[in-house]
Amino acid sequence: MAAAVKDINLLPFENHYRLRKVSEIDCKACFICYKPTTSVLVTLNNTDFFYICFSHLSDPSFSDPIYDDEYRDKMKELNEKSDKVKLLNFRIKEKNRYGSWDKIMGFNYLTKKDDKNKKDDKNKKDNKDKDKDKDKDKDDKDKKEDKTDHRKKTLEDLEKELNLLQKDIINTEEIIQEKQKKNSFFKLNKDFYKIRLNNYFKKQNEKKNQQLYLKNLNKLPKLPDHLSNDL
Ligand SMILES: [Zn+2]
Repeated sequence: MAAAVKDINLLPFENHYRLRKVSEIDCKACFICYKPTTSVLVTLNNTDFFYICFSHLSDPSFSDPIYDDEYRDKMKELNEKSDKVKLLNFRIKEKNRYGSWDKIMGFNYLTKKDDKNKKDDKNKKDNKDKDKDKDKDKDDKDKKEDKTDHRKKTLEDLEKELNLLQKDIINTEEIIQEKQKKNSFFKLNKDFYKIRLNNYFKKQNEKKNQQLYLKNLNKLPKLPDHLSNDL
């Protein structure tokens, strides 16, 4: 494991490229299709770079985008919100399924309440002692009524919450799409990264060989002056 990390540290550049644009005059052949392009991928340490058509960057067999923490947070947020929408939809479905039953119960309850009110009104004048009981009944009725309203409100709240959440999801998706459009960091497919590394080492070897050649050339004995003048 440690050896693998050491090997990575020995690599001249990481598989982490930034997209740059050059002017039309400076366009060069694409690394893949050889068409002229103004897009360039450059490693973070500027050690490797190559020209590439912008269209190849959206091909997963060539590269994958690298997003920042903010993007990952937004994606996490989106997944959590989507899960919450599923849960809300389930709760709303459940509420609607038992909604008709609640309506029947509510209707019976209200009918009983009206009857009782009439009865209370009738007895009011005749028996003052029953007022306390009536108040007690009224409190109980109010409590039941609140509970009924609360159940109704809960369904409304759920729908309202769902509506707000769906709008929120649209906003989050827009932010994510914007970030995808603006992203300028990419990771190459493993094979393409190897090609870039091989290309780098090949150039390094060529450079070394050239330096060695020049060094050896300097070591050659000087030609006699009369011959040197002839040249
Ligand atoms: Zn191309």
